[in-house]
Parts: sequence; C-alpha cells; structure tokens
Amino acid sequence: MTATIIDGREVAARIRSEVAREVEAITWRGERAPGLATILVGDDPASAIYVANKRKACAEVGIADFHRPLPADASMAEVVAVIGECNRSAEVSGILLQLPVPEGLDGAALTATIVPEKDVDGLTPISVGRLVQGTPGLRPCTPLGVIELLDSYDVALEGAEAVVVGRSDLVGKPVSFLLLQRNATVTICHSRTRDLAGVCSRADVLVAAVGSPGLIGAEHVKPGAVVIDVGINRTDDGLRGDVDFEAAVGRARLITPVPGGVGPMTIAMLLRNTVAAYSLQRG
Ligand code: NAP
Repeated sequence: MTATIIDGREVAARIRSEVAREVEAITWRGERAPGLATILVGDDPASAIYVANKRKACAEVGIADFHRPLPADASMAEVVAVIGECNRSAEVSGILLQLPVPEGLDGAALTATIVPEKDVDGLTPISVGRLVQGTPGLRPCTPLGVIELLDSYDVALEGAEAVVVGRSDLVGKPVSFLLLQRNATVTICHSRTRDLAGVCSRADVLVAAVGSPGLIGAEHVKPGAVVIDVGINRTDDGLRGDVDFEAAVGRARLITPVPGGVGPMTIAMLLRNTVAAYSLQRG
C-alpha cells in the first residue's frame, strides 16, 4: 500500500478563502472588520518571522492588524498593560502573545491575563478548562488544524483507536481532547511510555507531536492507518517531521508530509479563530 498524501497547503488555502469571504460579509454589513493584536516581546528572529507571517496572512483575508512590539527588557507589568489595552479595545477581536517570551518573563502568567473571548491561541487556563469540559470556547490552532485535516479527508473518528505521541500543552494534550470530543478512543504517549511502537501500532489514527526527527518508523504504523505528523525539525537535510516518511508511506492509508502537511494549517486556523472570536464578542 502507498498512502495518499494529505495536502495541507490546499486545505489551508480553502480555509483562508472561506475566512476572507466571512470577513467580506462582515464589512459589507457595515461592521468593523475583525482585528488581531500580535504582541511580540523582544527580537528573537524566529518569533519575528512567525509574527510577520501571521500579520501577512491577516492582511490577505482583510483582518485588521494591530501589532504591538515590545523591547526584550519589557517588564511583566508593561506586557500586562499592553494585553489589558487589547482586552479592552473594541477593535481587537483576538490577541496573540507570541511565545516563548524572553527570559525573566512568565509566558504562562502573561497568557492567563488574556480574556478568554479573545484567546485565539486557546492557551489560557479558562480556554483549556472549556476544552477539557467540552464546552464552547476557542481551541488551540495547531490541534484544530489536525482535526480539520482529518475531516477534510473524511477520516471517521468515532470509535477509532487514536494514539497521540506527545503531551505538551500546545499540541499533544489539546489534540487528544479534541479527538476524545469526537468520540475516538485516545491513548497519549510520552517520553516514559514503554513499548512506543507497540502502542502506536494499534492506532487507526496516529498523531506525532514530539520534536524528534524520524522517531516514528514503519514498526509504529498499523497497515492502513492515518498518520498525522505535527513535528517540525530543522536538520542538516532540511525540515523533517517526527515520522520517517519514506518508511511510513508504504504502510499508511493517509499521511501528512513535512513540510506541507500540518504546518500551513496553524495560521489558517488562527484566522478562523479570530473571526470566531469576533462573533463570540458580538454574541
Ligand atoms: P514539546 O513541548 O517539546 O513536547 C514534546 C512531547 O514529546 C513531550 O510530551 C515529550 O514527552 C514527548 N517525547 C519526547 N521524546 C519522546 C520519545 N522518545 N518518545 C515519546 N514521546 C516523546 O513539543 P511541542 O511544542 O508539542 O511540539 C512538538 C513538535 O511539533 C515539534 O517538532 C514542534 O516544532 C512541532 N510543532 C509544529 C507546529 C505546527 O505545525 N504549526 C506547531 C507546534 C509545534 P515528556 O512530556 O515525557 O517530556
């Protein structure tokens, strides 16, 4: 068997054009366009590129851009003040605090000051609680992107055996709860899991979010499984996922490539979350 390759770029492009149409409909009604505030503390080059890409994507779909750069030596109080301004601003629908923040600042404590209605990253304690309880709220973008890819390729989740490798707050845990909400039977693996290959090879749907290039090999993949690779690892051979693609493609039914799989979905889901936040605030 050779797997069908999931085209994340195509799915992300569809979502971006759906969001652009929604924004157009909002402004056509005479309402103010949804707006995203990007808060970037310091001058980490990778973070600067991520934020620039998010702002560019917003501009492309008509979402208003409120960029709030702060110096690397900004204090907790200064960042909290900027978040507070964004919390109160009627023009700002979504707030994104780019993580990690410079040393000396507490990223989790800062994130917690974002009001849940504007928490487009879905990382505040209230949003996490809502996710775990299965009540409405904003969900984290990359995990939402994983579910969107599965839905776009008509992968049945109800009753499916899903294995998630990785238990981070950013990806592993939220994607596990989203799968659970869709009635998959979910197992979460991590660095202390005994017999990783044995557990993974039970999966109908295998999600790898580890940060270890090529960790998931043929022996981890049940024949006919759907394999979603969230990993983005910079290696001497270029960008690689957590899945050994060449090994897994011969066993899986569907598989995401790296790059071009989950990667493009994150910004697309951020745009969708910003419009969802706008609607939440309007009741
Ligand atoms: P993270 O916070 O470092 O978490 C990694 C997880 O993998 C941890 O739970 C860790 O277990 C587990 N792990 C490490 N080694 C393992 C092993 N040998 N066997 C089983 N589990 C192991 O990473 P993250 O933020 O979730 O990101 C994971 C990957 O996704 C990275 O490559 C990152 O670049 C990528 N990513 C991509 C996107 C995107 O596509 N847009 C977004 C976010 C992240 P312990 O908890 O036991 O330490």
